Amino acid sequence: MAPEKPQWRELHTEVVTTGLCTGCAGCVVACPYDVLGYDESAGTYRPFHVDEHGGPDDCTYGQRGCTLCTRACPRFRTWEGEIDQFLFGRPRTEDEVYGIAEQVLFARAVDPELHAAGQDGGLVSAMLVHALEADLVDAALVSVTEDGGAGKAVPTVARTRAEVLAAAGSRYTYSANPLAYGAAIAEGAERLALVGMSCQASVPAVMAARRAGKVARRFTLTIGLLCSKTFHEDVFTELLDQRYGIAQGDIVRVNIKGAMQVSTRDGGYHEVPLKEARAWTRDGCKLCPDFAAEHADVSTGGIGAFPDWTLVIVRTARGRELLAGMVEAGAVEVRPIEDDPGALVLLERLSRVSRRRWPDSADPGPRRIPLQSS
Ligand SMILES: Cc1cc2nc3c(=O)[nH]c(=O)nc-3n(C[C@H](O)[C@H](O)[C@H](O)COP(=O)(O)OP(=O)(O)OC[C@H]3O[C@@H](n4cnc5c(N)ncnc54)[C@H](O)[C@@H]3O)c2cc1C
Ligand code: SF4
Ligand code: SF4
Repeated sequence: MAPEKPQWRELHTEVVTTGLCTGCAGCVVACPYDVLGYDESAGTYRPFHVDEHGGPDDCTYGQRGCTLCTRACPRFRTWEGEIDQFLFGRPRTEDEVYGIAEQVLFARAVDPELHAAGQDGGLVSAMLVHALEADLVDAALVSVTEDGGAGKAVPTVARTRAEVLAAAGSRYTYSANPLAYGAAIAEGAERLALVGMSCQASVPAVMAARRAGKVARRFTLTIGLLCSKTFHEDVFTELLDQRYGIAQGDIVRVNIKGAMQVSTRDGGYHEVPLKEARAWTRDGCKLCPDFAAEHADVSTGGIGAFPDWTLVIVRTARGRELLAGMVEAGAVEVRPIEDDPGALVLLERLSRVSRRRWPDSADPGPRRIPLQSS
């Protein structure tokens, strides 16, 4: 029997219509025939197949042997085990709840402008500036807001320090940063850094593991953001404005640390309990098992006792070398995780919570890690 060649038809049935699809856009970017679109109307964030060439649930190129969309999907079948094996050369053990890591530590940007602009320690922005200035990458796929304020997050390309600074900070609506790939390539970039939430941070790795060709080879550095959910953009109007009287245009910063912490232009500060925001959780996040950006070169988060430091999980040689180069260049300060052991406990707990979402009906891999701590 000829080997199976899974294509859009299988991706649609097994990932898109089952709720496993995160909206990461890996498939859209990998499609060599441009027959996949991306719907982000009304909080949808899902790929779709154009009517020509097969209709919504089949693909004429797939019928002829193209499998690239399934090879770029970090939720298709045995994705997690395949990527672990490819990136780290072994399956993870049951203790590796937040994925395979070389080291966990805290770091922050030394440059005061990058530090101030960052959500936590400004480490992600410092890494991008360093990688661009040291000619390690040509461009970075990041996110800004549509209105330049606190509105809907959208993907964009950063090639300069000023563009990195303009994209710094966290927005809690979804931005499929891989979608900025086309713009970066059109401008001549060949070596790309991707900044993305956990779901997106598995895109370059799954593409490389499943040999998705030129697109895979262009992703040179992957920086992941720890993530438990994103919100539908209606959270601004329906929750923050209508219930709390906080106009979207007045918001200068949102942070999520136990509560939704909202800072406004007039110097005001409001805390909204997270359980109130739960109803605006984006559908694509509801079955996501990955809190810790488990397949990034470096994963970054804001947990821990030090508000202006970034928690860093160094996973690959590429991540280790980048951070070591920055320490040597005096671009970052680091401190050991032992300064706040509670951060590791929380990292493990939040990772376990996310893993419980993965449904029994899908590949059993992500549920193999014990879902309760012993
Ligand atoms: C939606 C979301 C949820 C998160 N949830 C958690 C969490 O539960 N626990 C935790 O510890 N950390 C979480 N983080 C990570 C944390 O907020 C910081 O991004 C991380 O600590 C890096 O901080 P920094 O100061 O080093 O980064 P910065 O220097 O501020 O750089 C942040 C980078 O993230 C990009 N970015 C911002 N918003 C988005 C977005 N919506 N989509 C894609 N890219 C974006 C920016 O373009 C920028 O390049 C989350 C981040 C996001 C975006
Ligand atoms: S999870 Fe990502 S790659 Fe997979 S179908 Fe959804 S958007 Fe495409
Ligand atoms: S929880 Fe975060 S990582 Fe998971 S699908 Fe949602 S945005 Fe992606």
